[in-house]
Amino acid sequence: MIELKSAREIDKMAVTGEFVAETLATLSIEAQPGVNVMQLEHQARGLITDRGAKSCYWDYAPSFGRGPFRNVICLSVNDAVLHGKPRDYVLRDGDVLSLDFAVSIDGWVADSAVTVIVGDGADAADRALIDSTRRALDAGIAAAVPGGHLGDISAAIGDVATEAGYRVNAEFGGHGLGRTMHEDPHIANRGRRGRGLLLRAGMTFALEPWWARGSDRLAMDADGWTLRSADGSNTAHSEHTIAITEAGPRILTQLAGGAFVAPAAQRFGAGQVVVGSIDPDGEQADAKACHHFGLLDQRVDAFALHAG
Ligand code: MG
Ligand code: MG
Repeated sequence: MIELKSAREIDKMAVTGEFVAETLATLSIEAQPGVNVMQLEHQARGLITDRGAKSCYWDYAPSFGRGPFRNVICLSVNDAVLHGKPRDYVLRDGDVLSLDFAVSIDGWVADSAVTVIVGDGADAADRALIDSTRRALDAGIAAAVPGGHLGDISAAIGDVATEAGYRVNAEFGGHGLGRTMHEDPHIANRGRRGRGLLLRAGMTFALEPWWARGSDRLAMDADGWTLRSADGSNTAHSEHTIAITEAGPRILTQLAGGAFVAPAAQRFGAGQVVVGSIDPDGEQADAKACHHFGLLDQRVDAFALHAG
């Protein structure tokens, strides 16, 4: 069953989404060479407690994982792509790190993921990979309009992957969400336009394109959770929670002022900032978003502009 949310309920999900976006932005900035992945986990726990939020991951025990999950964030490094169980690992320059985070606040869930490159040693192919998942997310969001079909979203995402030369695994993808993290429908990252569920205002989805540089097959890590590319190639994952409204798609996992976490492809050097802004003209950085994160005294190299 798919529950249609009222405008007020969507606003509540956006409150949760803002916190999710803030947390991802904060942790993306913290994820520097020499930082242990477990530090990010513990920082996320502290932020959740301070906000009075509830982790959607802690004690989660789905069929695709081994026993209850005892972490609050998924941190997937390099060939790890989904459900990355945080572990004792010190990040290195050039590592590809995906951060996937979902909480509820006042009973409403938001779920988002970003992939960043740690430090300055970005590989051009890794940048292109991350950028493709970001562009696919944008394309999927653009297709999320009343009167369209679920297949329009899936096809829009899959087409970006195919054009960029990546293969799509349709087993894991996006999903409905609201009162809980995983609700109907499943949203495959490839599909056919005009097929599937009729899209209606009030539907809330997490769209999450992910793929690997070399293979669409996955291998389970010995930890019973972390899914890695079967060929060991690097991977990327981008996710937003969105609402379908009569006015079009609305991204709910955004920073205050409409900014959101930009992909590592937008980062250019030390002291980078990983927030971007939604600007109707697509030109101007959002100083408010920087201020929000206390970043005004840092060097701002790049903003990802996103006409959402
Ligand atoms: Mg997620
Ligand atoms: Mg999700």
